[in-house]
Amino acid sequence: MAYQLPPLPYDYAALEPFIDEATMKLHHDKHHATYVTNLNAAIEKHPELASKSPEDLVKNLASIPSDIQTVVRNNGGGHVNHTMFWTIMKPGGGGEPTGPIADAIAKDFGSFEDFKKLFNETTAKQFGSGWGWLVSEGGKLKVVTTPNQDNPLTQGIYPILGNDVWEHAYYLKYNNRRPEYLAAWWNTVNWDEIGKRFEQATK
Ligand code: MN
Repeated sequence: MAYQLPPLPYDYAALEPFIDEATMKLHHDKHHATYVTNLNAAIEKHPELASKSPEDLVKNLASIPSDIQTVVRNNGGGHVNHTMFWTIMKPGGGGEPTGPIADAIAKDFGSFEDFKKLFNETTAKQFGSGWGWLVSEGGKLKVVTTPNQDNPLTQGIYPILGNDVWEHAYYLKYNNRRPEYLAAWWNTVNWDEIGKRFEQATK
């Protein structure tokens, strides 16, 4: 198999009480695993692509053969998005960012609280399934959303952080209360990893 499900970097219950164990188990072992399985099945039809990283597939979607392009968009995107998602959370996470990313957030959004408010409001409004993102574009931080498993990489934009607002990410614990999940999620974020992604996005 060309692509593999990365192990969750912490225990399924490690993000309790903000994200429950049952959600983490389903989300990683079933949802993410299925994206990887479907991506591998598509790549088997075009083995010349198997040497490419999942990020490269998503970045260069337009060059993917048309018979598997949609499958790669949805499942390659799903694989890339979730691989990022597990690493930008950690047990005992949360708090406020420090260093260059904190300075950039203050410069472009006014304050960390203003940034969180904008992110939560924007992402709450994403209709149906999708993701909310913090990106850097033209030297400025922005909050954007994408539908489904689309990743900003396809637009040439490296995402600094993203939160999953598919119902599978929160429905067991939060039911239809997406804003409650969005508010609680900040208690899980891994600012060290997100700071590294900020450096990558802005270099
Ligand atoms: Mn998901």
